Amino acid sequence: MERLKAQAIRWGTECYTEDVLAVDLSQRPFTVRADEREIKTHSLIIATGATAKRLGLPCENQFWSHGISACAICDGASPIFHGQDLAVIGGGDSAAEEAVYLTKYGSHVHLLVRRDTLRASKAMQDRVLANPRITVHWNTEALDVFGSGKYMEGLKLRNLQTGAVTDLAVKGLFYAIGHTPNTQLFQGQLDLDEVGYLVVKPGTVETSLEGVYAAGDVQDHEYRQAITAAGTGCMAAMAAERWLSSHHLIAEHHQKPADEIQPQTQPKAQSPGLIPENAFDLSQARHRGGYALRRLFHESDRVLMVKYVSPTCGPCKQLQPILNKVIDEYETQIHLWNWTSPKTRNWPVRRGLWGRQRCNSSKIRKCSQK
Ligand SMILES: Cc1cc2nc3c(=O)[nH]c(=O)nc-3n(C[C@H](O)[C@H](O)[C@H](O)COP(=O)(O)OP(=O)(O)OC[C@H]3O[C@@H](n4cnc5c(N)ncnc54)[C@H](O)[C@@H]3O)c2cc1C
Repeated sequence: MERLKAQAIRWGTECYTEDVLAVDLSQRPFTVRADEREIKTHSLIIATGATAKRLGLPCENQFWSHGISACAICDGASPIFHGQDLAVIGGGDSAAEEAVYLTKYGSHVHLLVRRDTLRASKAMQDRVLANPRITVHWNTEALDVFGSGKYMEGLKLRNLQTGAVTDLAVKGLFYAIGHTPNTQLFQGQLDLDEVGYLVVKPGTVETSLEGVYAAGDVQDHEYRQAITAAGTGCMAAMAAERWLSSHHLIAEHHQKPADEIQPQTQPKAQSPGLIPENAFDLSQARHRGGYALRRLFHESDRVLMVKYVSPTCGPCKQLQPILNKVIDEYETQIHLWNWTSPKTRNWPVRRGLWGRQRCNSSKIRKCSQK
């Protein structure tokens, strides 16, 4: 992802990690308002995705990704599900398809349906009902997930007709209860379908408004995969470029020299030894380097925050603006000391894209002096 981003920046893309709060498509150029800036644009590509619905079971968060998943196609082949009894919740085509799919990996699949019928197409129903490795539990709802360790071990179920509560031992639970497309910003401005997906003209990524395009899951209620999202992203980029070009609105960006983009894409980690000692100023909130840490340890009368990050860590970069705001707010009461692991500094080069990257973003430690 870092390399994809670097490539985009090299070709003139400006990236801002901010939430878009409002969009005004009523007049051109359109207005996009985010946390910290407002942008005027002649063309817009919407790729805000869709969020899988959850049931909100009491222990759902505890076992999310430790047995519970919202995507059987994506996670079904994971070793934790191999040869195990699994459950799928839902009664539509997705649930039926996922139940059949999971029989390739699990030993048996339990399909939990709230009603006494499936909403799935006749063909899908036939495939489910004829499959000896699928048991359909009619009129059944899940009450909770349980497990004594890190991974889930079963489900507490209730029969909606009899009220009987039973346990079902399964090592995996897959939600197939639909997605919520992230289109709240566009309600009343663009055509949405009955579920809320952006409507595009068949075979294109064109929305109901000229110059506005939709890519990825936000317009795709069927496939919702990374490869299809990337494909429609490419279509949207080309369509937007053509539209801008045909309306004489295109602005050309040229590739930046590598030395210019270096600081944006690969922030240089400060080597503790390279910070000059006379640069230390106790009144400042932000510090780096071993010398500064020693001085802070002995002299600071403020809360000392030590930040560990890996330079390749996406979540760390996402957190950075939030952390910056916190430091700005408590500027006179806090000392922040930044640490970047010399070991991980060159990981993208040394270990390739697939190397596991350790990061300590969760370990932003706040400790009182001494
Ligand atoms: C658990 C799981 C595993 C998966 N595994 C696979 C897999 O193995 N293979 C595969 O092909 N697909 C997989 N998928 C599906 C794949 O992740 C999606 O199809 C793909 O990410 C969709 O891309 P997208 O860009 O449309 O949306 P997303 O990746 O969802 O990106 C949307 C982005 O828009 C941002 N956004 C939303 N609203 C705003 C706003 N108001 N302001 C600013 N930003 C906003 C979101 O924060 C998010 O970053 C998986 C999905 C899940 C949930």
